Amino acid sequence: MTCRVLVTAGASGVGRAMAEAFDAAGYDVWITDIDRAALDGVPDHWTAHHADVSDEGDMHAVFAAISDAGGLDSLCANAGIAGPTSAIEDIDLKDWRGCVAVNLDGAFLAAKYAAPMMKSAGAGSIILTSSTAGQYGYPFRAPYAAAKWAVIGLMKTLAMELGPHGVRANAICPGAVEGPRMEGVLAREAATKGMSRDEVYQGYASGTSMGRFVEAQDIANMAVFLASGAARLVSGQVIAVDGHTVNPDPKL
Ligand code: NAD
Repeated sequence: MTCRVLVTAGASGVGRAMAEAFDAAGYDVWITDIDRAALDGVPDHWTAHHADVSDEGDMHAVFAAISDAGGLDSLCANAGIAGPTSAIEDIDLKDWRGCVAVNLDGAFLAAKYAAPMMKSAGAGSIILTSSTAGQYGYPFRAPYAAAKWAVIGLMKTLAMELGPHGVRANAICPGAVEGPRMEGVLAREAATKGMSRDEVYQGYASGTSMGRFVEAQDIANMAVFLASGAARLVSGQVIAVDGHTVNPDPKL
C-alpha cells in the first residue's frame, strides 16, 4: 500500500526537497504552502493545498481532506520563518508573536490534527523541523530561537503521548542551509559589516567541524529515514543535520 506524507511549506526550500525525496521513495505526496505562485510550480501528481500553518481553519481543512483520502503515515511539520533580526529590546510584541505563530503554532496545529489519525491507525511518524538555533540560541533572533526550542519540547511531549499508540515523533535541527534564505542573511551581514559574502560564509561555516553549510537534500534524506521502518524505534530524538556545530556564535 502506498504511504502518504504531508509536508508543510513544501513548495520551496527545505520542504520542497523533502517532498521530492518522499516522492522518489514512492510516497503519495501532499504539501501545503502559503505562496500560491510557488504552489503552481509543484508537480501535478502531488496534492497541493494553499494553507497558512498558523491558521487553524486552513489546517483543519487540509487534514479533513487527508482524512477523506484515507489518513496519513508521515507528517513533516516544516514551515518556519526567520522573524525579526533585532536586539531583544527592539523587538515588537507583534513581530515576536508572528514568528512564534508560524514556527510553533504551525507545528502544534499540524500535530494536533495528525495525531488522531495516526493513533487510530496505530502507526505514524511525526517529524518537526526545529533548528540549531533551537538547540544553542541565535543572537538577534530571539523569537525564532525560542520558538524552535519550544518545537523540541512539543516533539518530546508528542513522543511520550503517542508512543504507546505506535506513533513516533522526532525533530530535525538543520544548520545553515545553502539557498536563498541564507544568501539573504549573508548579503545583509556582508553589507552591515563591510565584509564580502564569502567572508561571512566562512565565518558561519567555521562554526562547524565540517566547515560548510548543509544542503536541503541532507535534511530531506533524514526525514525519509525517520519516516521509514528502518527508524521504527527512533522516537523522541533531536537530530542535528548541521555538519556538527562546535561554535554556534562565531562572532563575525
Ligand atoms: P524558506 O524561507 O525557504 O520557506 C520555505 C517555504 O515556507 C516557502 O515556500 C514559504 O512560502 C513557506 N511558508 C512561509 N510561511 C508559511 C506559512 N505561514 N504557512 C505555510 N507555508 C509558509 O524556508 P526554508 O529555508 O526552506 O526552511 C524550512 C524550515 O527549516 C523552517 O522551519 C526553517 O526555520 C528551518 N531551518 C532553515 C534553515 C536555513 O538555513 N534555511 C536553518 C535551520 C532551520
